[in-house]
Amino acid sequence: MTSTQITKSQPVEPNGLASHSRPIIAAHPDDVMREQLEYLIEHAQGGPCGCHQCLRLQRARSVLFEIFR
Ligand SMILES: [Zn+2]
Repeated sequence: MTSTQITKSQPVEPNGLASHSRPIIAAHPDDVMREQLEYLIEHAQGGPCGCHQCLRLQRARSVLFEIFR
């Protein structure tokens, strides 16, 4: 067996990606929550406009503040 056989590259899918690439690791729930909160807070920085995102922030805020009371 030659070294080229041992180090043979992985098969490539039609999309150009290696078929045995690294597994996708799920994001930690805390990171997802932090990211979502940052997104909502950033959205409402100029004052709540009453849209769906603003309502989501309002709900999240009331739940979180309830815990810290
Ligand atoms: Zn809004």
